[in-house]
Amino acid sequence: MGLDPKRTVAELRELQQLTGDENGAQRVAWTETWERARDWLREKVAGTGAEESVDAAGNQWFTLRGGSDRAVLIGGHIDSVPNGGWLDGALNVMGGMEVLRRLAGEGQPAVTVRLVNWADEEGARFGRSLFGSSAAAGSMADQDELRSRKDANGVALPDAVREHGVDLDSALDARSELDGSAAYLELHIEQGPVLESLNLPLGVVLGTFGVERHQVTFRGQAAHAGSTPMDKRRDALAGAARLELEIREIAKRTGAGAVCTMGGVVTKPGIVTSVVETAECLLDQRHLDAAQLAAMLEQAKSVAERFAREENIEVEWERIWNIEPILFDESLVELADESITEVAGTSHRLPSGPLHDAAEVARAGVPTVMLFVQSLRGLSHTKLEDTKEEHLELAVQALDRLASKTIARVAND
Ligand SMILES: [Zn+2]
Repeated sequence: MGLDPKRTVAELRELQQLTGDENGAQRVAWTETWERARDWLREKVAGTGAEESVDAAGNQWFTLRGGSDRAVLIGGHIDSVPNGGWLDGALNVMGGMEVLRRLAGEGQPAVTVRLVNWADEEGARFGRSLFGSSAAAGSMADQDELRSRKDANGVALPDAVREHGVDLDSALDARSELDGSAAYLELHIEQGPVLESLNLPLGVVLGTFGVERHQVTFRGQAAHAGSTPMDKRRDALAGAARLELEIREIAKRTGAGAVCTMGGVVTKPGIVTSVVETAECLLDQRHLDAAQLAAMLEQAKSVAERFAREENIEVEWERIWNIEPILFDESLVELADESITEVAGTSHRLPSGPLHDAAEVARAGVPTVMLFVQSLRGLSHTKLEDTKEEHLELAVQALDRLASKTIARVAND
């Protein structure tokens, strides 16, 4: 049975029929619909002879034993956000399944090949992304916090995952799954506009951005909007507004994909008759280079100080969350580049703004690379998410080439 990328597209549509509705995909992790998708996948893969197992964190593995125990992993996630798209995560699971079929049809592969369907990549129900992959990578360190998480209906995370066979206390036992893993490959839709703007179907991902997230609070003085002359005001919103405009310049100056976003500003007292006393800003900064990311944060801090001085207000920074940039494996990036060039003529290297399961696997020390396929209009996490069918087919072909090259390299190591 040769590779049949058209079948992947048909199966993605079949999955969408089975688990979506008029508002989009509804495969939220730890729900019945998600379980239905996993059952469907199990039946689909059964024909390949790959053995199924579900690990301690709920990740679904399909193992095709090879001539060696060293394993090449292909990963994706079948869970979606509510009202999600038909491709996010599912594309790689389906594409990886097609590669497994092709390999199984050719007899025993030189090394073991495993398809993994990560549990709860999206974190849609409990607000914690990369659940399954962080457990397998051993980086899950927030069990206490996870125990107290509840969904919108008040159901606690440990109870919800238990219904799907996962005991939160032993989720980290999934770590042993990565033993013997020699490479990890993940295909994903880009979820951004870069490849479309370059008119290219496919690109190699260099790594995932480091992220710095802070709450920046400007404090001034509430005062009557009618009686306080303009030059006597201590307006906290002035600091926030100036910082919002300046972070765009910081990102532009830094370049190489740098992004800075002020995602929210809450003003108090927040009434039309008062000067703003406090403005709480949410700032997100991302870059693929750790030094550049640190420099962007320093610049934002120093201009915030200057604006505070000039506006006669105060400013305070509090870190909400951060993660270092995660770079993918150089030699796998080369193989991915070759694979894309072979099937599409031209390749392109780009960073990933969103985090992915691949970042967790790379952090665990497994050589990792990702392929991106063009997203139409850069849209994702909406039913409008789409990719041209011919590009989806090229993506499956590129993943297949990359899998072959990686297997050959691992076998010869
Ligand atoms: Zn995804």
